[in-house]
Amino acid sequence: MPPHPSHAILFEPVRIGPVTARNRFYQVPHCNGMGYRDPSALAEMRGVKAEGGWAVVCTEQVELHYSSDITPFIELRLWDDRDIPALAKMAEKIHQHGALAGIELAYNGMNGPNLYSREVPMGPAPLPVATFTYDPVQARRMDKTDIANLRKWHLAAVKRAKRAGFDLIYVYAAHALGFLHHFLSRRYNDRTDEYGGSLENRIRLMREIVEETKDAVGDTCAVPLRISVDELLGEGGLYREEVEDMIGLMADLPDLWDVTLAGWENDSRTSRFAEEGAQEPFILGIKRLTTKPVVGVGRYTSVDRMASLVRKGVLDLIGAARPSIADPFLPRKLEEGRLDDIRECIGCNICVSGDFTQSPLRCTQNPTMGEEWRRGWHPERIRPKTSEKKVLVIGAGPAGLEAAHALGKRGYDVALAEAGKELGGRVAREAKLPGLAAWIRVRDYRALQLNQLPNVETYLASRLSAEEVLEFGFPRVVLATGALWRRDAVGHAHTMPIPIAPDAVVLTPDDVMDGRLPPLKRVLVWDDEHYYMGGVVAEALAAKGCAVVYATPASEASTWTRNTMEQHFIQKRLLEAGVKIESFKTLTAIAPGHATLACVFTGREEMLAVDAVVLVTARLPTGTLHADLLALEGSFADAGIEQVTAIGDALAPATIAHAVYAGRRYAEELDEPAPAEDVMPFRREIAELLD
Ligand code: ADP
Ligand code: SF4
Repeated sequence: MPPHPSHAILFEPVRIGPVTARNRFYQVPHCNGMGYRDPSALAEMRGVKAEGGWAVVCTEQVELHYSSDITPFIELRLWDDRDIPALAKMAEKIHQHGALAGIELAYNGMNGPNLYSREVPMGPAPLPVATFTYDPVQARRMDKTDIANLRKWHLAAVKRAKRAGFDLIYVYAAHALGFLHHFLSRRYNDRTDEYGGSLENRIRLMREIVEETKDAVGDTCAVPLRISVDELLGEGGLYREEVEDMIGLMADLPDLWDVTLAGWENDSRTSRFAEEGAQEPFILGIKRLTTKPVVGVGRYTSVDRMASLVRKGVLDLIGAARPSIADPFLPRKLEEGRLDDIRECIGCNICVSGDFTQSPLRCTQNPTMGEEWRRGWHPERIRPKTSEKKVLVIGAGPAGLEAAHALGKRGYDVALAEAGKELGGRVAREAKLPGLAAWIRVRDYRALQLNQLPNVETYLASRLSAEEVLEFGFPRVVLATGALWRRDAVGHAHTMPIPIAPDAVVLTPDDVMDGRLPPLKRVLVWDDEHYYMGGVVAEALAAKGCAVVYATPASEASTWTRNTMEQHFIQKRLLEAGVKIESFKTLTAIAPGHATLACVFTGREEMLAVDAVVLVTARLPTGTLHADLLALEGSFADAGIEQVTAIGDALAPATIAHAVYAGRRYAEELDEPAPAEDVMPFRREIAELLD
């Protein structure tokens, strides 16, 4: 099917300086936790995006000189000629599928602590380096020689990038990540020389670098300029009017304007804190400042919205990082009118957590992300089945849905049995919590895929017992029956239950999601899980009018969400909702009418008068089906059962991304010969040893 006529505009080519993008889908630079450590995995991942139809596929930020590294984050490097082959491999993979390859050269300067190189960081002013972890390192002020050197290093990297085969070579001045942004923003630039003060002075270095880049490679390579239109700090930081003036002064100098918000946490907000297209008010009107094309992002997955942005003259190219991670084939599917096949990004930022935890990029919606090279997985293709053996999948949460639909695509006959009246498991329940509505897309994509698979039979309202599983008589049984929250406070802090009086009111997130709440006025939410659930439950109860105390042994609410760049927004929202946050507190006992909290340092206890305590701690696999089945193991052969496998939360509770991945892994590996004992199940690259 061709694209709908009203979407055809998205498939027009766009000229960017000396090169032409085949359509308007542009994968903007995005980090991935693979970088210099996993270059072949990274090259393959970018190649798959190109195969999926993106017209431009960019790198993440690429450190351009050893004197500025952003360790512990793992990005690409272009420090000398030896880095060229890894980058060339990526450019080649991108070209193989007809896309343009873009590279974002970065010199972090005042936000790179140089923990690896041990060089002294430098920037426009002598300030502490701005990192997420308050590194005790300061940058020194750059003098004229430093500026001249940095221009030279940038130029050398530009030439190397061209040799590596890139078609677009970025000048990066965005996100408060890097020297050019620092020079632009008055909060970092207090200089009194020609690089500080007036707007013209603050953009001087950026202009010089764009000019030098264009002079060096502009005949064959496009030079995009990436800039943040607002830091959301009022006039204390870069703000829209000021940046408009900067863009006006540079108007047609770069070949493309790539406009973002700063910092990264504002640009890539989760769906809990920003709708699709939240950046639109900030990018509206940029196009009238230049005749050059403009690209911007907004977690766009709605094709009507994208087409209208182009028609209304807001953007020329639809930029995407997360939508291209969740569905590397988004452009192709739109072009072929296959809207039901699109895996829409849910805006959870698990992808971002890969960068923050220095682990390969992963995605809740797309379990193949980061596994293209090391496991040979592909987002759209999966090996055909190699046996006729039927599979019974029990539980239609993220793990069961992913397993069932991926097995169905392999051609297996599958029965999917779900106890509840709807598909989705935890996702269906959690999506009803404040801010998590978009998460239902995890279910919706898979439900739409199941509709297209006649070989997968779905049974709702079918809670299976062990005997019923035997009656099914399918050789393969997959237990994807999920997990429930614990009621005994066992979690990170307590590995054994704490004293809980039998008549105390103790609730779990399951009770909150199921609406099983007695009348409550004062509630303690004790969060010893540290991801989103504790904060979300506190928010939900505050919205119901409860006086909520949120206590955590950590220093802050939902501390793991630093990795999804949400922590700040969560704490702000809780405080604004009137939730009292008690940090560094461990729950030690629960009695009717009160709970006991202890300081994690001194052990000093205090009593808190509450009507109920919500325990957000750990989970345990649901029910007894697994144990009941094992008890009947002796009858498996008679029933024709060969294997029973627990996956996802039913095996060991973790994130939704883990569950989807577990479902995919089961489907990918079914009927694969087991690898020899000393063979790893995935590939990795080993550094070359030098003398
Ligand atoms: P995961 O995250 O691992 O996919 P979920 O908790 O989201 O796990 O989903 C588990 C699903 O399994 C739930 O929808 C639950 O209703 C279902 N389930 C649990 N036990 C049974 C059973 N015995 N028979 C059928 N479905 C079950
Ligand atoms: Fe979107 Fe979440 Fe996937 Fe990131 S991890 S691309 S936010 S679905």
